[in-house]
Amino acid sequence: MTKFVYDFAEGDRDQKDLLGGKGANLAEMTNLGLPVPPGFTITTEACRVYLAEGSEPPGLADEVTEHLVALEKAMGKQLGQADDPLLVSVRSGAKFSMPGMMETVLNVGLNDHSVHGLASQAGDDRFAWDSYRRLIQMFGATVLGIEAEHFGDALEDAKKAKGTTNDLDLDAGDFTALVETFKGVVREHAGRDFPQDPREQMDLAIRAVFDSWNSPRAHIYRRQERIPADLGTAVSVCSMVFGNLGMDSGTGVAFTRDPASGEQGIYGDYLQNAQGEDVVAGIRNTLHLTELERIDKAAYDELLGIMTTLERHYRDLCDIEFTIERGKLWMLQTRVGKRTAAAAFTVAVQLVDEGLIDMDEALQRVTGHQLAQLMFPRFDRDAEKERLTTGMNASPGAASGIAVFDSPTAVRRAKAGEKVLLVRRETNPDDLDGMIAAEGVLTSRGGRTSHAAVVARGMGKTAVCGAEELEVDVRAKKMTTPDGREIVEGDTISIDGTNGEVYLGEVPVVSSPVMAWFEGTSRERDELVDAVDRIMQHADGVRRLRVRANADTGEDSALARTFGAEGIGLCRTEHMFLGERRELVENLVLAETRDEREKQLQALLPLQIEDFTAIYRAMAGLPVTIRLLDPPLHEFLPDYTDLSVEVALDRERGQLTEEKEELLANVRRLHEQNPMLGLRGVRLGIAVPGLFAMQIRAITRAAATLAAEGVTVLPEIMVPLVGTVQELQAVAAEIAEVVAEPESAVDGKPVEHQVGTMIELPRAALVAAQIAETAQFFSFGTNDLTQTTWGFSRDDVESSFFSEYLETGIFGVSPFESLDTEGVGELVEIASWRGREVRHDLKLGICGEHGGDPDSVHFFHRAGLDYVSCSPFRVPVARLEAGRAATSPEG
Ligand code: ADP
Ligand code: MG
Ligand code: MG
Repeated sequence: MTKFVYDFAEGDRDQKDLLGGKGANLAEMTNLGLPVPPGFTITTEACRVYLAEGSEPPGLADEVTEHLVALEKAMGKQLGQADDPLLVSVRSGAKFSMPGMMETVLNVGLNDHSVHGLASQAGDDRFAWDSYRRLIQMFGATVLGIEAEHFGDALEDAKKAKGTTNDLDLDAGDFTALVETFKGVVREHAGRDFPQDPREQMDLAIRAVFDSWNSPRAHIYRRQERIPADLGTAVSVCSMVFGNLGMDSGTGVAFTRDPASGEQGIYGDYLQNAQGEDVVAGIRNTLHLTELERIDKAAYDELLGIMTTLERHYRDLCDIEFTIERGKLWMLQTRVGKRTAAAAFTVAVQLVDEGLIDMDEALQRVTGHQLAQLMFPRFDRDAEKERLTTGMNASPGAASGIAVFDSPTAVRRAKAGEKVLLVRRETNPDDLDGMIAAEGVLTSRGGRTSHAAVVARGMGKTAVCGAEELEVDVRAKKMTTPDGREIVEGDTISIDGTNGEVYLGEVPVVSSPVMAWFEGTSRERDELVDAVDRIMQHADGVRRLRVRANADTGEDSALARTFGAEGIGLCRTEHMFLGERRELVENLVLAETRDEREKQLQALLPLQIEDFTAIYRAMAGLPVTIRLLDPPLHEFLPDYTDLSVEVALDRERGQLTEEKEELLANVRRLHEQNPMLGLRGVRLGIAVPGLFAMQIRAITRAAATLAAEGVTVLPEIMVPLVGTVQELQAVAAEIAEVVAEPESAVDGKPVEHQVGTMIELPRAALVAAQIAETAQFFSFGTNDLTQTTWGFSRDDVESSFFSEYLETGIFGVSPFESLDTEGVGELVEIASWRGREVRHDLKLGICGEHGGDPDSVHFFHRAGLDYVSCSPFRVPVARLEAGRAATSPEG
């Protein structure tokens, strides 16, 4: 029979799949001998069964009873026992941390009788009634689905009646009355009484935690974080400890290092006489953790000792939740902590220097996404700016946008193309889609561990939190600065998540230090730059995949080289024909006689030679893959509809010229219903005689001239959109002819070069063995290969049904963003095998934008490709990910 329940002492941290992150780590801490209140965890498997069947798996209730009885025995009291109740929390915890997305109920086991037992045991009436009202409040909201506001409003009323805003001013009598009020709220809104039976409370809470897996906000969070929808949550039942037993008690959260910068030190918040979420909810102002030393030195020292133990044990930055009950420290949670991109790099290198991990592991601790974030610009320090206030630097970055004060508006205005900053007093899980839509988040309350801070860091979104001087009035959609200035919805502001500053208007941005270091414009090495440099060097040393860049000009090529590109994987020549030169191409395509065509080609040749010379120079000593012209034809021709209208108008006015009429006839002749699948690529090269020959001539002549100067040039001529080897053979013959010309020779020998093709049609992948007879290299054009494999054109589908597909989960991620490894990837593998069977040293690369996508890079590594090529700015990301792929424990 399947085991659904594990005692904390039975599990360990590797069982996150089964016990959830929280349960697995509670087990790990228990087994480390740390002070964890005893309890047990119900597996994610039980949750999955429940979600699938709509009822708890048979046997679960008995198993829970068994573990509950054992817990009661160990604690010497029974759940809800009238004179001395055992109380428990019922806590959610999925495999991946989803902060605040699911539910937890505290103080389960209290009822009209046991509240008295708790009071006499603790010698504190106020505490007991406070705990009871918390239970009814949490139970009502999470288990019975009552709007939390009904309870919140009643609590506010009680405070108002007392003439206070602080919950600490409420006494036992107030809470006793509040319990009655809350029970009334339950009766009114749930149509039932608050259950008095402790076991019923527990069972309903467990079920509510299961159900919370499917709450709308949990759905949104999973989609954003790409967490699979079918994992389910575990439920940990944990005996209660109390931080609300007076000023010698309290609750707190802490990080073992600064999750924003990675700096070592004491980072955390503490709240005296408080329970559970009080500390992160921003309801009272928290104390900095260092103040605990003054309040309770023994507990503080023990806590720091435990944090060191945890760091050494997990060999990573951890975050923790703890509670102090009358001087006794209890650990309630730990996990490897979420951190910013900057902290990820600096902490990884610190841990190497501390001897806890090696460089291979450091490489696994950072990601290409994080590196990309570090390359984003930051505000210009020297720019003139008007500071409004300063808050806590909760998540780094620089963001400008219009202030909006609620999430629906943020979503709506962002969809309309505006840049928005979400301004709230504090955020809660319902703000998630607003945070996703916003450039950044600004809150007036809460610290580094608040919901806004934690979630923003997880998303890599800029956040300034706890800007307490700001008065945020969400209802009136405005905020007021200390000097009385009002910022209303639609006003532009800027926030700096690195130093916490808030500015009026849009502040200009400059390169980040990491970017400046890559670009070579700055040699300043702070801790972060140093960490990035060391990890990049390691990645370069271990990776097998080479990284090239997609670049079309000498300038871009030079830039790519500073980013570490090891050649050009794709030089798109069609870009060279746009702008002023477009007319030459238009004339060429429309030319009716050989002479006319020849004239245009002669004009283009020197221009192309110039283009290629600049690129070769920038890439001296490195391979340069140049793709022969591959435009969808319409890009070079006047728009058919526009021209038709023009001609009609001219005709009406009697001004129509013969040339224009002829042009229209030609454009009509060449007009395509579906240009992406029309006369393009090699097809165009064959249809327009001399076009490819001109380009080949430019490629080889430029190379020959430079080679004669002693510059090492390695041109690779790439033929686009080949579907059959015959097409490639036709172009290869043309290449052979051109290369034999004296101008393409160096010291009497043809200039060194290679001939290859793009694989961007499914047919080409399938007949790769034939193609490899002629091709010396394949370069997978994964953009087109994705389009042709799926049978949709990117420009058409991305704006039509993609968002629907992503929302409904048909796509986890767009196949244009991350390679569809099952379909398109399979074709890549087939072509690679079949090609290499015929030609063992067939060079294999990829030149779609997938070359800079982290997940795709790992796939290309496993598929055995030689290189990836991506845009210059993605080159460092690809280098890093190639290194990570080579050292990945998954191989
Ligand atoms: P989350 O996943 O949202 O952090 P938790 O299950 O950790 O939810 O619980 C919410 C809050 O209640 C946390 O502050 C936690 O420390 C506190 N808490 C949970 N269980 C207990 C317990 N047994 N005793 C005291 N506090 C608890
Ligand atoms: Mg927690
Ligand atoms: Mg293509």
